[in-house]
Amino acid sequence: MTEFSASQVEAFLSCRRKYYYGSLVRLNWPAPFDRNFQKAEALTALGRDFHLAVQRVIQRILTIDEAIQTNQGRVKIWLEQFSRTIALPSDGAVYAELPLTMAIGEDLWNGKIDSLAVSGGRATIYDWKTTRRPGKRSDYAEAAQTRLYRALAVANRDALGIAPNRLPDIEMIYWFANFPDDPIRFTYSESAYAEDLAALTALAAEMRSTNEADYPRTRDAKTCAWCRYRTYCRPSSVALEFDEEDFEPAADDLMTIADFE
Ligand code: SF4
Repeated sequence: MTEFSASQVEAFLSCRRKYYYGSLVRLNWPAPFDRNFQKAEALTALGRDFHLAVQRVIQRILTIDEAIQTNQGRVKIWLEQFSRTIALPSDGAVYAELPLTMAIGEDLWNGKIDSLAVSGGRATIYDWKTTRRPGKRSDYAEAAQTRLYRALAVANRDALGIAPNRLPDIEMIYWFANFPDDPIRFTYSESAYAEDLAALTALAAEMRSTNEADYPRTRDAKTCAWCRYRTYCRPSSVALEFDEEDFEPAADDLMTIADFE
């Protein structure tokens, strides 16, 4: 059985060689040591702090007011925006950093959902984004996260208390900490579920190859600029100037420290 996640799909779609290094060869290669990566790591750490603070609020380790008071700078502002715009149900179950799995054929798909709220059989999947640029609906409609997380909710609906045979009752919301009044929402349907399963199955078929030739390097210099393998894969390439607006922390980067705490 081969295991896949949304961040592996994102790596595969951005550069096949990057996915090959990370998931097949499991190359342990440190990120470039330059100002760009230091800035990227600082932004990733802010996103991680925000996710961890929200997890603590949902799991009732802190009240939202305590979380706001004990953070500062951007994370404090994001938590204030979260408090103002997100209303989680008080009469159901609310999960944070919820790991879910499902099998499709011979493949095992993994996801860790930022938050899942279930109330009266209805489910809302939340994904918190700390990007500097507003989200584009078209980008998220076919994102691996959208496809995988909705399908994971369906596959685990009995255990989670989600009503059977009512896929329109599953909603996915991308909430943007810097644009809290402009979330992107996707409802679900039987046809979208079938499309998601077909898309994930097709991706897995390509990502299962062990032949390096099936994983060419990207030609997009911007993708290489953010790639931790740059000094290994393209040692003569020149780092591009950092544009904070282009940077979005990868889901795996956000989890790393939180998982050890
Ligand atoms: S440096 Fe560029 S081509 Fe090489 S793995 Fe990274 S993104 Fe792909």
